[in-house]
Amino acid sequence: MQTQLSEHARQLPRAAEAERILRSCVHCGFCTATCPTYQLLGDELDGPRGRIYLIKQVLEGQDVTRSTRDHLDRCLSCRNCETTCPSGVEYHNLLDIGRAVVEEQVPRGLGERLLRHGLRTLVPNPVVFKALTRTGQVFRPLLPEHLQAKLPRHPVPAKARPANQHPRKVLMLEGCVQPSLSPNTNAAAARVLDRLGISVVVAREAGCCGAIDYHLNARNKACSGHGGTSTPGGQRSRPGPRPSSRPPVVAALSSATTGTCWNRIRPMPPRRHGSAR
Ligand code: SF4
Ligand code: SF4
Repeated sequence: MQTQLSEHARQLPRAAEAERILRSCVHCGFCTATCPTYQLLGDELDGPRGRIYLIKQVLEGQDVTRSTRDHLDRCLSCRNCETTCPSGVEYHNLLDIGRAVVEEQVPRGLGERLLRHGLRTLVPNPVVFKALTRTGQVFRPLLPEHLQAKLPRHPVPAKARPANQHPRKVLMLEGCVQPSLSPNTNAAAARVLDRLGISVVVAREAGCCGAIDYHLNARNKACSGHGGTSTPGGQRSRPGPRPSSRPPVVAALSSATTGTCWNRIRPMPPRRHGSAR
């Protein structure tokens, strides 16, 4: 896609990267078919192609509005769109760049900042989150409808996990939210992987994978405060302090990303990136 970065955008530390990614998109729209937010909302701007276009406009110096920020906020950073892109567009990197610029130009109000801070503080704490979930289930009838809809009525309890018996292993981050809201998901993933000849080793010391901070545009915190595991963006983060007896994490399944983690645990063929257009 032809792109003319504004003078302001050219000063960004990742300007060249943003321009390269924008130019690699051929605007074909294959990615929209695999985007959950597009499937749900049916709006081009809530799909990857639309968001790429919005970020292009932002970086070319056009007006940024709250609506632009909302469309970028709704992206789950799941990277499903990247699996169907024929040009190898590094969407998640472009999104990171775009979100930071939009955040700067359309600051959030106090209420939204407090809410996001609250989420970043509470959600990564599994003990507190579990207590809040249980309390919410008891007082479900008193909650607003949108919160009721988010609380599962009868979470499926975790079934037995297979023994650790295969030479091929993968580390799993148990997650902060999943053990309370969907306790059987990780156990089911362990059984599926066992059938495929891979044993799951639970990384109990790993703590939070950083997904909440990362998705709420606090990337510095996400990449420095969570023990140095893979970031949700799929890049290895800066390692935090780690006892010398603790082995480094080489591949990890995070419960926040279990649905899209396969591309991180099997070798990927080199991707052909689209040429500049
Ligand atoms: S991101 Fe990839 S699949 Fe989506 S419009 Fe661009 S080139 Fe096509
Ligand atoms: S990362 Fe996920 S939610 Fe965001 S555009 Fe891609 S497929 Fe859609």
